Amino acid sequence: MTAPGRARELFSAVELAGAVRRLGAAVSAAYPDGVVLAAVLAGSVWFAADLVRCVNVPCRIDFLAISPYTPGTGRVAIVKDLDHDIDGADVVLVEDIVDTGLTVSYLLGELGRRGPRRLDVCTLLDRRTRRIVPVEPAFVGFEVPEDFVVGYGLDYAGRYRNLDHLFTADLAALGEDPLCHAAQLYGTP
Ligand code: 5GP
Repeated sequence: MTAPGRARELFSAVELAGAVRRLGAAVSAAYPDGVVLAAVLAGSVWFAADLVRCVNVPCRIDFLAISPYTPGTGRVAIVKDLDHDIDGADVVLVEDIVDTGLTVSYLLGELGRRGPRRLDVCTLLDRRTRRIVPVEPAFVGFEVPEDFVVGYGLDYAGRYRNLDHLFTADLAALGEDPLCHAAQLYGTP
């Protein structure tokens, strides 16, 4: 499904569901005794909610939120922390996309200091070409190219999270119309 000049489908809902099932099976196999999924608000919520239903070992889900980082400084901060202690726990940090790696490397440092027994990263999308900090997620849904991605939790200015597909879209097209919504991405009136 394409909307010429505006957006291009990257992965369909069916492809996403397949990747989530694969990741859920991989996490379950890697953590047979159970796992805490630590999901980063807000973008990874959609992915984490689907992932947790594909994990078939004892599982807890917790959430944290970070401030957006200022490009160039690489500085972020935790603005909503996990509700539970992770000392001695087996933890998988759940991200929507690892891009430069700055966010995940910051979070791995913060969570790592709390004494988890094991700490891995599960990301739906991995954009290795833009990496600044060397981060190797243990579980990856798809590698993606440089184009900006929206849908399935990933937003542009707070919009498009509700799309069940993933799209790559021209930033100018996304930004030009504050009322731009899913219908335009799908190319329907
Ligand atoms: P990093 O710190 O790895 O550069 O960036 C991670 C965060 O940047 C992601 O969690 C996400 O919020 C945002 N991000 C990076 N690339 C994209 C993208 O293509 N689309 C959207 N919507 N967000 C992105």
